[in-house]
Formats: sequence, C-alpha cells, structure tokens
Amino acid sequence: MPQIQPEAVLLDYDRRHVWHPYTSPTEPLPVYPVVAAHGVYLRLMDGRELIDGMSSWWCAIHGYNHPRLNTSLKEQAEKMAHVMFGGLTHEPAVSLARTLIDITPPNLQKVFFCDSGSVAVEVAMKMALQYQAALKLERRKHFLTIRGGYHGDTLGAMSVCDPVTGMHQLFSGALPVQFFAERPVSTNDEAWREDDIADFQTQLAGHHQEIAAVIMEPVVQGAGGMYFYAPEFLRRVRKLCDEYGVLLILDEIATGFGRTGRMFACEHAGVAPDIMCLGKALTGGYMSFAATLTTERVGEVIGRRDGVFMHGPTFMANPLACAVANASLDLLSEMDISTLIGGLASGLRRGLEPCRALPAVAEVRVLGAIGVVEMKKPVDVAALQREFVERGVWIRPFGRLVYIMPPYIITGAELDYLTSRMVEVIKTL
Ligand code: PMP
Repeated sequence: MPQIQPEAVLLDYDRRHVWHPYTSPTEPLPVYPVVAAHGVYLRLMDGRELIDGMSSWWCAIHGYNHPRLNTSLKEQAEKMAHVMFGGLTHEPAVSLARTLIDITPPNLQKVFFCDSGSVAVEVAMKMALQYQAALKLERRKHFLTIRGGYHGDTLGAMSVCDPVTGMHQLFSGALPVQFFAERPVSTNDEAWREDDIADFQTQLAGHHQEIAAVIMEPVVQGAGGMYFYAPEFLRRVRKLCDEYGVLLILDEIATGFGRTGRMFACEHAGVAPDIMCLGKALTGGYMSFAATLTTERVGEVIGRRDGVFMHGPTFMANPLACAVANASLDLLSEMDISTLIGGLASGLRRGLEPCRALPAVAEVRVLGAIGVVEMKKPVDVAALQREFVERGVWIRPFGRLVYIMPPYIITGAELDYLTSRMVEVIKTL
C-alpha cells in the first residue's frame, strides 16, 4: 500500500468539505496548505517559502508572527480572552478608542467596535438611517455611491458594491436598491476634469430627499477594480453632502493605517467624513475586528429620538482583538509612514515598470504600497497562482488585475524579488 501523504489527505478533505472565498462549492480552485508564517514569508506544508505580496488581503502590515503582537495577545489571553461588552468595559477597548480618536480626523469622537469590515459598514449604514429618521427625514432610506466600489459581503454592504463586479444580479430582488453615480476618471488632482463630478451632482440633486448618506472608499477603490481617483473628487463630494444635509461615510477598511502613504486616505483630500469604517490592518492582520467612528452630532441626534443605537454584536470590543490592535498601532506610531510607504512606492514603480511595454498589459498603476497591473483580458487565476508559487511568491490575482500590497516590513531586495517574478509571469501572457 502506498503511504498517503498528510498533505494529500488534508487537501482532499478541504476540497470536498471546506468552502473558500468566492469559489465554486463543486469545482473549487486549487489551494495551498500553509503551516507557518513569519516576517514576509508564508511556509507551505511541502517546505517551500513564499514571499507574501498580499498582506493577507491588506491586513498583515507588520508581517507575520511579530514578537510584539504575539506578546500582546499572550498577555491579554492570561488576563481575559473575552467578556461581553453589554454592561461591562475594559482597558484595552478604552485605550484603543482613545488612540483611534487621536489619529483619525478630529470631528470623529465616538467609536463602535465590531467584528469585521462588512459589519462595520452595516453599522455605518444603520447609524446614517437612524440619524436621518431622528431628524424626521423618514424618506432618507437609501445610499448614494460610485460605481467600482466594494464594501463587503453582507446584504447591506453588498447593495453599495459595484452592481457588476458585486454581481447584484445573483441577488436581484433581495438587495436594497441604491443610487450609483459614475466613478471619476481623473486619477490625480493635476489631471482633474470638472465633468467628473457631474453625474454625482445630478444624482444627489435629484434624489437627496431619499438619501441618508453617501458611502465611498477614499482615493483607492479596492476589490471593486483597484482604481485610484483624484482627491479633488472627495472634496467635491464632501461639499455636496454638506449642501444637501446628507452624511458622508468613508470606508477606510482597506486604505486605513498607512497603506496609501498617509495614515488614512481621506488625508490626501483633507476631508473628514461623518462616519468612518476601519478594519483589516486594525489588528495588524491578527484577527477579524473592525470599528465604526462617528461624530458627537450623529451620536447626539440618534440618542435624542431613539435613545439607543440598535446594534451590539456578541464579540463587540473583544479584549484580545483590542490588545493586539493597541500593539499594532504602537508599532505604526513608531514608523515614519510617508517615508516608509514612499520608499515602497518607488520600489513598486521601478519594479513594475517593465510591464508597461507588454502587449497583454492595459495599465500599470502604483499608489503608496499598492502596485497594480491591469491586463487587457481576465487572467486564469489558478494557472497564474501556480506560476507564482513555483517562483516563490504569493500573489492572488482577480479578474483582469494582478496586484500586490506587501507587508510594510518587506526589504528592498524582497520587493525586487516579488516584482521581478511578477513581471516574469506577466511576460508569458
Ligand atoms: N470594505 C472594504 C473597502 C474592503 O476592502 C473590505 C474587504 N475586502 C470590506 C469592506 C469587508 O471587510 P470584511 O471582509 O472584513 O468583512
């Protein structure tokens, strides 16, 4: 009898019983078993080590197995892993709230801790709905956003994702119907085109009586298409929201904590939202956790009519998550973000430059520690993933996009290795 390898057993069971993100339940794409991760390296079960280009979907900004994050988690686990947040509070949560209030725009003064990015978006949307209802603007039950966005996979969040890439047709009739404006085409302020704001302005002027809030990702639209847009668009949106009394929700779940070269992407525009969603890198990628911040005014208006804000997840303000988030924010506070991320941006620009000349490539764009190669045609994800793994790098493309956003601790040499392998594989397409 041939001996069955543990890897084969694991993969077989996984294939038959375990669902992976956005994958067919019957014909899933291949997966690679990971046994450990340290720094910027993922170690596969067969012993290979891959340089991580994804930061586990924007999260692991300090790399994996970080001694200070590990210590914070262990120390907190010895005190208490979890207690309910109804009627109780604790130091890790209060201290985290204080730091978040310190580093976000000054108008944001209230923090709601929740479980994941999607939930943070649901919470933001519910805050906006309760706020407008409290002002007796009962018709304001919808949201305005721009095409190309992504805000999560729960029903409310999905309703404001791009209708095409978010596959609204799969759920037609089940999702709340929202308003969508064209996304801006200007990619930076120097290239600003006045007509970029026209559709948004028309929609808001026409429907503001039905709109509770505008929701957008600031400056970088992530999973909806990896688009970068001019900060001027955000300034115009802020102005129009104020004009019509509509709240502005900025979803900084992907962009927050330095990724774009500023602590928060809204800083590129000098704009403060009424509600801000944070997640992903909040815990340095250690566990699912998120926060929704808002102003005194939103809190006060909701409290005036309803008395309560109607949300309260079981694992709200989980102490382990708060402790590791505090440690991650400590690490961030010791960094000079603009220099560090500026250096990564230069490395990405230099490394991805050769892609510009390739016939299969439509565009190469870099902002902060995000490098995107947009192809002319959709790529074969499984085939490309295999090519990358064979070359010792972890890159997970989607649609027409091959992109990387590595951990901030990546060295110049590791980044060169990552980008050169990316170029090598893209050359074959
Ligand atoms: N908003 C944005 C901008 C995101 O990128 C994501 C996750 N990709 C979410 C919300 C949803 O977060 P989660 O997957 O933690 O629910």
